[in-house]
Amino acid sequence: LISLFPFVLQLLRSLLWPGWRSCSSKPAQNVHLSKPGHGFSFELTDEQKEFQATARKFALEEIIPVAAQYDRTGEYPVPLIKRAWELGLMNSHIPESCGGLGLGSFEACLITEELAYGCTGVQTAIEANSLGQMPVIIAGNEQQQKKYLGRMTEEPLMCAYCVTEPGAGSDVAGIRTRAERKGDEYIINGQKMWITNGGKANWYFLLARTDPDPRAPASKAFTGFIVEADSPGIQVGRKELNMGQRCSDTRGIVFEDVRVPKENVLIAEGAGFKIAMGAFDKTRPPVAAGAVGLARRALDEATRYALERKTFGKPIVEHQAVAFLLAEMAMKVELARLGYQRAAWEVDAGRRNTFYASIAKAFAGDVANQVATDAVQIFGGNGFNTEYPVEKLMRDAKIYQIYEGTAQIQRVIIAREHLGRYKN
Ligand SMILES: Cc1cc2nc3c(=O)[nH]c(=O)nc-3n(C[C@H](O)[C@H](O)[C@H](O)COP(=O)(O)OP(=O)(O)OC[C@H]3O[C@@H](n4cnc5c(N)ncnc54)[C@H](O)[C@@H]3O)c2cc1C
Repeated sequence: LISLFPFVLQLLRSLLWPGWRSCSSKPAQNVHLSKPGHGFSFELTDEQKEFQATARKFALEEIIPVAAQYDRTGEYPVPLIKRAWELGLMNSHIPESCGGLGLGSFEACLITEELAYGCTGVQTAIEANSLGQMPVIIAGNEQQQKKYLGRMTEEPLMCAYCVTEPGAGSDVAGIRTRAERKGDEYIINGQKMWITNGGKANWYFLLARTDPDPRAPASKAFTGFIVEADSPGIQVGRKELNMGQRCSDTRGIVFEDVRVPKENVLIAEGAGFKIAMGAFDKTRPPVAAGAVGLARRALDEATRYALERKTFGKPIVEHQAVAFLLAEMAMKVELARLGYQRAAWEVDAGRRNTFYASIAKAFAGDVANQVATDAVQIFGGNGFNTEYPVEKLMRDAKIYQIYEGTAQIQRVIIAREHLGRYKN
């Protein structure tokens, strides 16, 4: 009976208050949270296990067989994205009232770890949707959410988060793209850089400066817009040739006198910086989960290889130096997973998780790089070669220390949050 309670409650709510599922970023309804008294639990709910199993099967059977090919060609993985969309493995956090699944960050992370195990190029292309959508989820009004999130549940569309510029990445307040109000519209001029899904997006979240006064505080000077990607005046640059995650689409975009209706402003003029930064609290845990997926794959590949490869008359895993390297790798994978799960759990509980999100992202980003490098080491000469999977993992890992806030910026945030607790 107790287990039926949430469903009965939901039914009653629907009957008594049909609008209760309005689009908003309420705490997620996940069982970890909805069963007070159960305390701390590592047990996944049946629903979580199901999503994890579906994503794992998809990664093993459909992503891994074609990942090396996509890496070689750099082609955008359209069939995989369509399939992920069909399986419900994309856009999982779009609210139910907009036609989405309304899953929590925890579930999104579980899915992301599995997709990343298959190929982080594919995972980043999918994850960039979450990043582009998140400002609309946390700050969009009902009309904006229905229009822009709703269409993504009807067909496998992509979106993008346009904040970084050629002259400003870490220092977001240094961006120069301008938006000027003219009647009922804003006119946008500027240039964005390193935009994931830049050439594939149906719409962009865009951060632009609306207060030209250089002394205006960041918290008031910037505005967040939703911009249709086919608006006149948008020029999408060439696909960048990156070190890793090569099938993901990264581009520069120029905005020249692009007209955006005032209805597409998120919250209000001046609220953009907070929205753009606030999105990271929800997207850094899945990015960390992606890094964990990569690290887990590297550990699996290295372990299997170490069991097979023989030197000095025995499998290399029987050399203690190799076994201990695998042990270190395993420790890092397990702890990095706990990091993202804590960060996701906090945000699903409706608490500010900035501290945990940065810890998860920084730690998992470093772990992915260390574990992938160690996997190459265990493969010896073969590890340096494109015939074996681990060199791709090492190239793919690097971006986790750069995008969504570099390894250094995460430490700036962690230190600020940590010290803030002592100052209060
Ligand atoms: C493949 C890829 C995909 C991306 N996708 C997107 C996207 O979809 N949307 C988007 O908006 N952006 C995206 N980015 C941009 C990414 O977020 C930025 O590259 C990143 O934030 C770093 O900014 P930057 O490149 O300007 O480096 P800089 O900010 O110039 O930093 C250079 C170096 O200085 C360090 N540094 C800077 N400031 C400090 C400080 N205060 N203390 C200590 N060290 C510091 C940095 O850690 C770094 O090592 C993407 C980038 C790449 C490469």
